[in-house]
Amino acid sequence: MTDMTDRPTLAPSQTPGLVCAHHHLYSALARGMPAPPRTPSKFLDILELVWWRLDRALDADTIYWSAKLGALEALERGCTAIIDHHESPHAIEGSLSLIEQACAEVGVRVSCAYGVTDRHGAEGAQRGLAENDRFLREGGHGMVGVHAAFTCTDDTLAAAAELAARHGVGVHIHVAEGADDVGAADRIRHLTTPEWMIIHGVHLADDHGLQGTIVHNPRSNMNNAVGYARPTRFSNPVGLGTDGIGADMLDEFRVAYVRLREHDVTETPDTVWAMLQTNHELFPETLDDRVTWSYEPIDPWRLAFTTGVNPTKIEIHGETMWQDGHPTRVDADEIRAKAAEAAGRLFTKIENL
Ligand SMILES: [Zn+2]
Repeated sequence: MTDMTDRPTLAPSQTPGLVCAHHHLYSALARGMPAPPRTPSKFLDILELVWWRLDRALDADTIYWSAKLGALEALERGCTAIIDHHESPHAIEGSLSLIEQACAEVGVRVSCAYGVTDRHGAEGAQRGLAENDRFLREGGHGMVGVHAAFTCTDDTLAAAAELAARHGVGVHIHVAEGADDVGAADRIRHLTTPEWMIIHGVHLADDHGLQGTIVHNPRSNMNNAVGYARPTRFSNPVGLGTDGIGADMLDEFRVAYVRLREHDVTETPDTVWAMLQTNHELFPETLDDRVTWSYEPIDPWRLAFTTGVNPTKIEIHGETMWQDGHPTRVDADEIRAKAAEAAGRLFTKIENL
């Protein structure tokens, strides 16, 4: 992989399009959602009381508007490709196409996956597998999603791996994010391939033996108090994701750097910049995208300590998608207004669950 700062066609103020290697676009409408019935005191509580209430309330309309708002917010930050992981147990069929459509309308690239789980019974797992299969069969850009080993049976994990192999893609799965999933590695080791995406890996052993790219999500991990993944200990490629907290990859880079530095004061911003380069390997088309920034030169040591660096122009597929503070294909104010209306409907549904 060529160092992005060395690419001859890049001006000192330019990068390729940034990639968010792990996102949940469905969380874009979650901000301001009704408070949980009690204060979560551990990671599993956060899943049960916040995210698993939100995903049960999603319908086609809120899936579409959350994806559209999330895609707009990615574009605004120079992120031209999103690797998304979606769950909406009461609106599974067609959900990945809604996300794909919303991103295409904004002009942002997306890879979709439906997070299969046995949390809603074997039939729910089957419907999740079927949605991944339908989307990939119809030519969608994506992977096979799995929520996490601790919410799946061994049969479901094997079926997801088999489906991914049949489509020539990897599995996109949360692994050992919290201590509740510490047994995941032993259950999926024989299934993994280099195409898999292993998300979080906080509680993996150093010699976990899993194949695939590990995606580090430092802000989310701190927010959920699951621990520090110490990503430099892995021999796997390591990418960088936001786990649904926006798609501002320069900001995530800064957070990842200070968290790494807190762990090891001899570390450098180059270590984290390399994760953004791994992200390009997951979405190579972004190397042809161009982001011109409000700061130069683009250099990890400078960017680690420079906040508020903004895109001034973004080209995707050779088309200008962002210029003079505005998206070129869509009306940002209209998306924000429609998304706010959709969020109101979503919050009412959550309260009535
Ligand atoms: Zn996640």
